[in-house]
Amino acid sequence: APVGALLDIRGLCGGYGRVQVLRGVDLQVHAGEMVALLGSNGAGKTTLNKTVCGLCRAWSGTIRFDGKDLSGAHYRAVVKAGLIQVPEGRKVFPDLSVRENLELGSFTRAHERRAANIEKMFHLFPRLRECMAQRAGTMSGGEQQMLAIARGLMAEPVLLILDEPSLGLAPRLVQEMFALIRTLRDGGLAVLLVEQNVGQSLEIADRACVLENGSMRFSGTPEALLGSDMLRRAYLGL
Ligand code: ATP
Repeated sequence: APVGALLDIRGLCGGYGRVQVLRGVDLQVHAGEMVALLGSNGAGKTTLNKTVCGLCRAWSGTIRFDGKDLSGAHYRAVVKAGLIQVPEGRKVFPDLSVRENLELGSFTRAHERRAANIEKMFHLFPRLRECMAQRAGTMSGGEQQMLAIARGLMAEPVLLILDEPSLGLAPRLVQEMFALIRTLRDGGLAVLLVEQNVGQSLEIADRACVLENGSMRFSGTPEALLGSDMLRRAYLGL
C-alpha cells in the first residue's frame, strides 16, 4: 500500500488572470478519510477544487494524487486517475435523460463497468430508477443533486470532491444528503467535503481544514476546532 497521503497538495498558488486567489495552499487527504473543507465565502474553496481538478491552471505548487504528479494535468487525466469532482450547483445536463447523465459519468473512467455501475446507482438512489427516462432538467433540485453525485460515482472515484452538496436543499433533503455522504465514507471512499453547513459536516468528518484568504489556516480534528473558543470564533463565527 502506498505510504503518505492519497491527495497531497503543497504550496499551491493560482487564480484568474492576474488575480491571485490561492496563496500557497497545503492540503492532504488520506485514503478512506473524510475531510471537511471550511472557509467563508470567497475564501477560495471552489477555486482550489477547480485547480486540483485541472479546470483552473495552477501557477505554482504541486498536486500529487495516488502516487502520480497531477500538477498541470489536463482534467481528463485527473478523472482517469480517479479524482472525481461533483461541482457546485448540480451541473447536470438538463436536456439529457437521467440515464444518459449517468452514462456520461463513465465516459473517461470505468467505462467497461458502465451497465453494472448504473444498476448500482439505481440501487443507491431508487428515485433515479423511477425517472431514468426523464429529462434531468425537469427533476427537482434535490433529485438533480443526487444525480450529480451518482454521475460522479459512475467513474468509480478513489477520492470524491463534493462542492456544497446541500446548498439550496430543503431541510429534509439536507439530512438525506448527509446520510448519503456518511454511507459513501463508511464504504471506504475518501471524500473532500466543501460545505457551508459547518455543524453537520464536522459531525461526519475525520478532519477539518479551514481555508482563509487563499491559504490553509487550520487542519485538525473536528473536536479540536469545536473545542477551542478561539478557533470557533476565528474560523466558524460561532
Ligand atoms: P463560495 O463559498 O462563495 O463559493 P469560495 O471559497 O468557493 O466561496 P471562490 O469561489 O474560490 O471562493 O472565490 C475566491 C475568489 O476568487 C473570490 O474573491 C472571487 O470573487 C474570485 N473569483 C471566483 N471566480 C472568478 C473568476 N472566474 N474570475 C475572477 N475572479 C473569480
